[in-house]
Amino acid sequence: MATHKFFEEKVEELKNKGLFNNIKTVESGQGAYLTINGKKMLNFCSNNYLGLASHERVKKAAKEAIEKMGVGTASVRTLSGTNSLHIELEEKLAKFKHAEAALVLQGGFMANMAAIQTIIDKEDIVISDELNHASIIDAIRLSQVKTKLIYKHKDMKELEQRLIEASKIAKTSKSNGEHPLILIVTDGVFSMDGDLAPLPEIIKLAKRYGALTMVDDAHGEGVLGDYGRGVADHFKVCGEIDIEVGTLSKAFGVVGGFITGKKALIDFYRQKARQFLFSNGLSIPDTAALIETVNILEESDELVKKLWENADYLKKNFVKLGFNTGKSESPITPVILGDENLAKDFSAKLFENGVFATPIKFPMVPMGTARIRVMPSAAHTKADLTIGIKAFEKAGKELEVL
Ligand code: PMP
Repeated sequence: MATHKFFEEKVEELKNKGLFNNIKTVESGQGAYLTINGKKMLNFCSNNYLGLASHERVKKAAKEAIEKMGVGTASVRTLSGTNSLHIELEEKLAKFKHAEAALVLQGGFMANMAAIQTIIDKEDIVISDELNHASIIDAIRLSQVKTKLIYKHKDMKELEQRLIEASKIAKTSKSNGEHPLILIVTDGVFSMDGDLAPLPEIIKLAKRYGALTMVDDAHGEGVLGDYGRGVADHFKVCGEIDIEVGTLSKAFGVVGGFITGKKALIDFYRQKARQFLFSNGLSIPDTAALIETVNILEESDELVKKLWENADYLKKNFVKLGFNTGKSESPITPVILGDENLAKDFSAKLFENGVFATPIKFPMVPMGTARIRVMPSAAHTKADLTIGIKAFEKAGKELEVL
């Protein structure tokens, strides 16, 4: 069979199952509203938590940096591609996270890859929450580790069982004579449900069994804790997590990822992480824009407070209408519908009524738990949110969800 035929059938199969992703093109910058097909749409599904993606100060910083230094860095960081802006950003991020050091990579996905692949080999042990983000799952695969132990979502009894198993396995040295590392890895905020990993308990168990801890704080930074310092700050456990990974594409509003931790660990990543050694760093305007977003976050918590106010308003109103918003503890607001096709139809109804909120389906969430994941932003006004809530009510009634 011709290759194109094979893939045509595969795509057809996705369509038949309601799993085909109709990707919309946005013709404007990011904000409370977007332009799609020439029409102004209320934006209910971007990760622009604080509205920084098109903040005037951030745009100005990027423009000024381009004027001064151009756009590209023209080399991997380890050759001629480390710019003084990269170093400034890394220092600012470390300070923001109350960490000793930070390393910036090209995306949160890349940062998770680097964080795990660099320190874990075949003979180490990784223990992972079953609902961890795809980039963590792929990073574990990339490390080729043989002993992957999965625990039920947030289930600390099961985590302890896995640690007991891991400790037994770790009694045998690796072929190079070293002790196997045991790494517990979890999302900080689970991206599809918005619930939080119980970090104090995870840290306690890690200490008891001599394991390392890693948290992906993609949806926590700029959102949780004082001034949006993240999930560790929220739980008052700053400095107690060995490896913190973040993204610069959500609350920070630009693109990129980073790892924070003790200086020795970050030094090691800087020497050994393949994603750092063999791929170009962030561009000049991205990096300059990010420095300004960290400045904005350090100066005031006004945007973080506005985000939470908006999230509370949205959740309260959805629950009042009778929607199932799951067990979110963060601004992520899932409206769980169940059936994949229902979620698709619901999103289409919202779209007809001027609201852009994409359906989230398998494989992003388990089959039968499809949803619309609403992402409030500090860029929304109460009036914007009310328009969105009304559109949800209308779609809910028309599709007999309510
Ligand atoms: N981790 C989590 C939990 C995420 O939600 C995402 C983005 N969807 C990433 C990592 C990847 O981040 P990035 O988009 O910066 O690659």
